Amino acid sequence: MTPRLLVFTDLDGSLLDHFTYRWDAAAEAVSRLRSGHIPLILASSKTLAEMQPLREALGASRYPMIVENGAAVVVPRGTFTVPLANALPCNDEEEVRFAPPRSRWLALLALLAADFPDEFAGFDALGVAGIQAVTGLDAASAALAARREFSEPVQWLGTPARREQFVAALEAAGARVQQGGRFLTVAGNCDKGQALCYLRCAYQRELPGRPIHDIAIGDSGNDVPMLEAAESALLVRSPTHGFPALARSAGVRRSHGLGPEGWSEGVLAWLQEYHTTVGD
Ligand SMILES: [Mg+2]
Repeated sequence: MTPRLLVFTDLDGSLLDHFTYRWDAAAEAVSRLRSGHIPLILASSKTLAEMQPLREALGASRYPMIVENGAAVVVPRGTFTVPLANALPCNDEEEVRFAPPRSRWLALLALLAADFPDEFAGFDALGVAGIQAVTGLDAASAALAARREFSEPVQWLGTPARREQFVAALEAAGARVQQGGRFLTVAGNCDKGQALCYLRCAYQRELPGRPIHDIAIGDSGNDVPMLEAAESALLVRSPTHGFPALARSAGVRRSHGLGPEGWSEGVLAWLQEYHTTVGD
């Protein structure tokens, strides 16, 4: 039976270049996925507002997305014939939430500002101009990044030792803190791995008995849960930090190229295993 392949990918530092946010170097592999009708499922700490235009540009508008580090999945209507439990309408799509709203974390950070004065700056405090300054995004992109629903990225300004205390205080108050390429993301108890498993189950329900092979692609600590959860894992080499540590060793690839170049190299090698003539 023809297997169903699924690709779950991080954006910044993986499919998108860490510095330029471009994905040209991965164009060949992206187009192979598109022509093979293989779902390209974006899984990022980015917001829905930021991810929508990227998904469109990548030709992946038919496919679900994992937003804000796994806080929710957004699924185009008609993707699955079996209704998704607890799905909420979200524009033309449906959204399934796994985490509480951002307001909870903003209130907690306001409380912690007394104990950690001038040691951190969240997106809410930075504002659009501040987000631009720390990310290098243009004004329009920074405005989309500010439209968060579930999570608050925080720039740490203090020492590593104090950061540990800060993370411990957040976790003691019920937050989950994940280290991305640039920010600590403060959110509820959700991650990209849970969201991957949720979507894999939804695809499997649609295709009873048909084998599903999935790959997760990432470069940072916040990708680890999905890199552990997927059948195959592709670690993308970063220009700024080492590969994140994984508990697993089987089914793991590490790219030679950086960012999108490594992404392309790893995806093409993975597709080779299935002779690429697969799809729906
Ligand atoms: Mg990344």
